[in-house]
Amino acid sequence: MMRARESRVVRVLAVSGAIAALVLIWVTVPCYGEQAPRVRQVRNVASTNLKPPSDAIVLFDGKSTDAWVMQRGNAPCAWEIQSDGALRIKPGSGNIITKETFTDFQLHVEFKVPDMPGAQGQGRGNSGVYMQGSYEVQVLDSYGLDSKDSDCGGIYRVSVPMVNACLKPGEWQSYDVLFFAPRFDDKKELIQPGRLSVLQNGVWIQSNVEVSKATTAAMPRPDLSKPGPIMLQDHGNPVEYRNIWIRPLEPTSR
Ligand code: MG
Repeated sequence: MMRARESRVVRVLAVSGAIAALVLIWVTVPCYGEQAPRVRQVRNVASTNLKPPSDAIVLFDGKSTDAWVMQRGNAPCAWEIQSDGALRIKPGSGNIITKETFTDFQLHVEFKVPDMPGAQGQGRGNSGVYMQGSYEVQVLDSYGLDSKDSDCGGIYRVSVPMVNACLKPGEWQSYDVLFFAPRFDDKKELIQPGRLSVLQNGVWIQSNVEVSKATTAAMPRPDLSKPGPIMLQDHGNPVEYRNIWIRPLEPTSR
């Protein structure tokens, strides 16, 4: 009788212990499939101050904004070149676009977001690089975050970067974007979405992501089948740009 009671106590203790252990594991270990923060600081990558390839069109070299106009009204570029050759957004002046338009291309852009410790979320050094004025790769201070699709390196509201490769605000960073424009048939029906791959600071963050429609705050561009400009976004923050060049590709089949 005594032995039966003891063995029941042991069983109860064992079951209770097992349940407690499972609860502890559940609380402390991320669920299977849950993403851990994907932050990757990779150093010693030659990704800024890159010399443009011999066949590149230089869009900004630190000396002139001749390749650019304001998106509104094609007015002369109001953003100002700083003494160090950076092009700083003049907050409130509006987006700028290239005079030239492009279809498929390789684009290199260097950018620096300001340190804005008093600002939050989308207010921390927000700008953006739009392919064909329509598809935004976000520029933002997202240093050290578990990135979302609205963070730096995100294709805005479309695709989360595979890793967060952001450097600290105040440091020069780079995007290298490989872009295939969307294809349309004779009736302007979409037959192939656009595709983007992106390296940030030399790190692969977006891989062949489809863009079927323009992202938020794109420029008005009723006919997406036509070539479009590169657009840099004024989101009210003094983000800086430098060393911008592009290698248009022949629009061959892919
Ligand atoms: Mg933006």
